[in-house]
Amino acid sequence: MINAGMVFTDRHVGGINYPKGGVGKIAEKLVYGIERLGSKVRYKANVTEVLLKGQKAIGVKLSSGEEIYSDIVVSNSTRWDTFGLDKQKKGLINLSNIPKSEYKWSKTYKPSPSFVSIHLGVEKSLLSNDFNCHHIIVDNWEELENEKGVIFVSIPTLLDSSLAPEGKHIIHAFTPSSINEWENLSKKEYLNKKEKYFSFLVEKISKIIPNIDKNIDHKEIGTPKTHRKFLGRYEGSYGPIPTKKLLGLLPMPFNTTKIQNLYCVGDSCFPGQGLNAVAFSGYACAHKIGAKLNINSFKLPD
Ligand SMILES: Cc1cc2nc3c(=O)[nH]c(=O)nc-3n(C[C@H](O)[C@H](O)[C@H](O)COP(=O)(O)OP(=O)(O)OC[C@H]3O[C@@H](n4cnc5c(N)ncnc54)[C@H](O)[C@@H]3O)c2cc1C
Repeated sequence: MINAGMVFTDRHVGGINYPKGGVGKIAEKLVYGIERLGSKVRYKANVTEVLLKGQKAIGVKLSSGEEIYSDIVVSNSTRWDTFGLDKQKKGLINLSNIPKSEYKWSKTYKPSPSFVSIHLGVEKSLLSNDFNCHHIIVDNWEELENEKGVIFVSIPTLLDSSLAPEGKHIIHAFTPSSINEWENLSKKEYLNKKEKYFSFLVEKISKIIPNIDKNIDHKEIGTPKTHRKFLGRYEGSYGPIPTKKLLGLLPMPFNTTKIQNLYCVGDSCFPGQGLNAVAFSGYACAHKIGAKLNINSFKLPD
């Protein structure tokens, strides 16, 4: 309810807002703010280990071997990836130092499925200017949460034409898909399966956009494996969901961990998945660290 409340309030009070220039603009603006305050963002810097001294975090080690020391370490990786709760992959914390509470967390929450995502470049003439930006296609409500059970379609260029070349639209569509569907396939089987999902999605979209199949200039297909690889997310998951219906997101951990000076942030923390929720989590974490370091300034207006 808390999570849904935040999302729906944001969507319905004052209308929906979109960042002009695409969603990447949000990250660019955040980087601008971070750099203006004298900090640095390191790109292509893959953290392979959180350095510990006893049960205290003292820095991170990068895949290049470089070690960076710090008073506070914040992980934006999922809890499965941070604590190595994914049994097939080593986490950022050495096995012997993983707090018991994290194993308990992984029993209370499971990953929601991943998805197959397609991005298309299509002819602008396919759509009228008053076509809606968002569509959800459901054939059977019973199947909503299952593999291919629902298709989400967004056409951002209806709101911001600068995102695509002149005379073109971008269509993004995705459908739930589990990583299990994509494991243990040969390269040929994997590529064939991608094309099958692509045809399935295009056929469904053609119900609302007839003749789309004949007007595709560009296509990209992402699978759960793509999301696992490029987003570094456990099973390519959308994020954690409670294993039991009644639990909800309220018992989700806040930002602290049982390892001193190690904080977590993002959708494995309260209040869970979604941009609003993770923005709250980031704000709460920054506030907590500010309080610890005594650098929060509270200035009441005169
Ligand atoms: C297709 C799709 C549609 C969505 N639609 C909506 C929507 O309409 N509304 C909504 O509110 N939410 C939506 N979401 C959910 C929302 O995007 C996520 O909940 C949110 O992005 C999670 O944020 P996060 O900061 O926890 O994790 P992430 O966004 O995954 O950020 C984690 C960052 O940490 C980096 N990282 C991970 N491991 C390492 C490492 N070892 N070293 C260095 N860097 C590392 C990753 O590269 C990444 O940049 C959608 C998600 C998807 C995929």
